[in-house]
Amino acid sequence: MRDFSKGHEWLSINTATVRKQLGAEVPLDRIIDQCAERGIRAISPWRDQVAAVGLDPIAAQLKAHGIGLSGYCRGGFFPAPDAAGLKAALDDNRRAIDEAKTLNAPCLVLVVGALPGALDGKAAYKDLGRARHEVRDGIAATLDYAREVGMPLAIEPLHPMQAADRACINTLEQALDLCDELDAQKTGALGVALDIYHVWWDPKLQQQIVRAGQERLLAYHVCDWLTPTRDLLSDRGMMGDGVVELKKIRGWIEATGFAGFSEVEIFSNLDWWQRPGAETLDVCISRHKTAV
Ligand code: ZN
Repeated sequence: MRDFSKGHEWLSINTATVRKQLGAEVPLDRIIDQCAERGIRAISPWRDQVAAVGLDPIAAQLKAHGIGLSGYCRGGFFPAPDAAGLKAALDDNRRAIDEAKTLNAPCLVLVVGALPGALDGKAAYKDLGRARHEVRDGIAATLDYAREVGMPLAIEPLHPMQAADRACINTLEQALDLCDELDAQKTGALGVALDIYHVWWDPKLQQQIVRAGQERLLAYHVCDWLTPTRDLLSDRGMMGDGVVELKKIRGWIEATGFAGFSEVEIFSNLDWWQRPGAETLDVCISRHKTAV
């Protein structure tokens, strides 16, 4: 297992972690400068953050700083109540792939979606099986284009508490079943983003990490699970502040041959988003050395 205690060369910052600083939204170009000042070598930005500044300026800024991506957030949200909605989702995923290419991302992360409209409190239907079917078809269709341009897709299973509104793929096993169905040859075009927050509790976690292997493990996201958790979406903990055995799990992951970034992704409306970004980034660096 790699020794993270001496430096932070394998730390990546998911830019949602410092999206808000002292309670206010901070533009991505400022976040990139803050990362560059600390010698952080990789980030994973969100589409809306990129769009707010502009795709080309962000690509140029990353290049100037020598900062790479550990992933691009995000595609997905495939289910829709009608044919027009399904097509709009495919078009949007195609655009996400193009953006990911421009930014030289190693993969596009997919939060696959669930009951359409549920995120706004009004689900268009309640058939989760139908949603899963639409997700399968959406990924299959998107994979054709992703293969054509060479942009791997990383399915991120989400904690079951988000099965209604954000993702109806909720375990690593479920995500890998889909990978095996749509990319049986393990071509590298389809894999998983393993976010510790979503899968740490899974009794089959180790077994499914072994099953995934290096070929399918395209991204690794870290934070911690706080007790109690006060908000279903945005009360993630800083590594070391919760109950996840991060080093043990990284050991399982690295045993597959994985040698990529540990991407810190913390949505924390109640804590870290209320602090200065400099403080949050500095603590990410120190906890990456001691707790990841
Ligand atoms: Zn994640």
